[in-house]
Amino acid sequence: MKTIDKIYINGEFITPEGSEYFDLISPTTNEKLGKVLLGNKKDTQNAIAAAKTAFKTFSKTTISERIQYLKNIKASIEKRKEEFIAVMIKEYGGTLQFSTISYDYMLMSFDAAINLLNTYNFTKIMGESEVQMTPLGVVGIIIPWNSSNGFICSKLSTAIAAGCTVVIKPSEMSAQQTQLITECLHEAGLPKGIFNIVNGLGEIVGAEISRNPDIAKISFTGSTNVGKIIAKEAAETMKRVTLELGGKSPNIILDDADLEQVIPLAIIAAYMNSGQACIAGTRLLIPENRLEEAKELLKKTLSDTIVGDPENKTTAVGPMVSAKQYERIQNYIQIGINEGAEILIGGLGKPAGLEKGNFVKPTVFINVNNQMRIAREEIFGPVLSVITYKTEEEAIEIANDTTYGLQAYVNSSDEKRAHKVASQINAGRVQINGIGHDPMAPFGGFKQSGIGREFGTIGLEAYLEPRALIR
Ligand code: NAD
Repeated sequence: MKTIDKIYINGEFITPEGSEYFDLISPTTNEKLGKVLLGNKKDTQNAIAAAKTAFKTFSKTTISERIQYLKNIKASIEKRKEEFIAVMIKEYGGTLQFSTISYDYMLMSFDAAINLLNTYNFTKIMGESEVQMTPLGVVGIIIPWNSSNGFICSKLSTAIAAGCTVVIKPSEMSAQQTQLITECLHEAGLPKGIFNIVNGLGEIVGAEISRNPDIAKISFTGSTNVGKIIAKEAAETMKRVTLELGGKSPNIILDDADLEQVIPLAIIAAYMNSGQACIAGTRLLIPENRLEEAKELLKKTLSDTIVGDPENKTTAVGPMVSAKQYERIQNYIQIGINEGAEILIGGLGKPAGLEKGNFVKPTVFINVNNQMRIAREEIFGPVLSVITYKTEEEAIEIANDTTYGLQAYVNSSDEKRAHKVASQINAGRVQINGIGHDPMAPFGGFKQSGIGREFGTIGLEAYLEPRALIR
């Protein structure tokens, strides 16, 4: 049993002033893994003050100094690969496959930030004027439990590239993962105060970050509901916000697609991170005349999909992060049944032999129409809704008929056709034929999937403020 009783402020591991503990529970067995001592409002204010002081110097560092800091952090993370993967599996039930990919993405963020620093021009000429792209100030980083360290790396690397200092509030459920990355960041030897990390609850630590006038910007990843609360708070002091929120991503299978190839990919897109992914392709749009074929392939693919111990290298779907998430997903499966959708595979309850953990049966609903709640609301678990369409135009209409717009997938054997369809989808990223990630391309949402973008030059500029010198 591990007790995490330190937060990180101004280059030091310190005991927080807060006195409440939060229990860390294994998603795989529901046994207590340990506990974390939570920071409070005063701890958050201390962290912000440290970041504010550090900003005065850090904002003036040269590009080559920033590149060196990013290289140092990457090197210290590289030394502890096995530990990172092990703690992701243990603490939040990420499968070995997914945790390994997540770890690679962590490193990729530093390469991408270094690449940006090698290519980005911080001084531009616009019209007759010189425009200086200057670091915004202290950035508050608030992140969820899924891929917690992945988000710390992507946001922190960009902030450092921009010359900003940060206060990070991870999810209280990710305390052991946070401890490990904090140790690596500490070892990287950056000047004190550049990054500060406060474990704590959203309503206390997160709320203080959202309200504090010394925070210039918030970079948040999490639910749309919390994103709205943060945006309102941030508006009081005109903080810049980047909000990466929920999704209900369509996966359009065009009528010329090779279903044998595409359906297994659609299952991966839907059930990645055991369905706990904002970019999960949870609405599968199938041409009406190919439904029977698709149903057979879905059944075949899912009969080969291993649900169980996340540590096992063949496991594709692990447990949900918490008993609360398990219940939430059960509730949605019940809603789907009540709405008249038909279960093709899966359903209510735990898979046989996996009663101890928060395991959900990977579920596919057919006879779903796009107005049902299971097609409109983010479930955040391995639940896929199959929706049929007659024409390409109708598929595009259904895909866009959502309050979200984070990610979409288009599959066709004709890449030009897929490109034409993809160009009509209102989503921040549209994946053509496959599943991938480009850390130099912007990522973020249309509509209620968020505000702003991360990654690439657009992501970097979200941490910068332009100053035009008019002569
Ligand atoms: P959440 O919104 O409940 O919590 C996210 C973070 O916000 C946590 O650190 C939490 O403590 C904090 N928080 C909660 N209330 C707060 C408040 N009042 N003020 C400030 N901070 C507060 O999300 P979650 O359950 O941890 O994660 C799942 C959600 O995250 C899903 O909706 C998912 O789609 C979304 N998500 C989005 C992306 C993306 O890139 N768009 C990526 C991953 C997850």
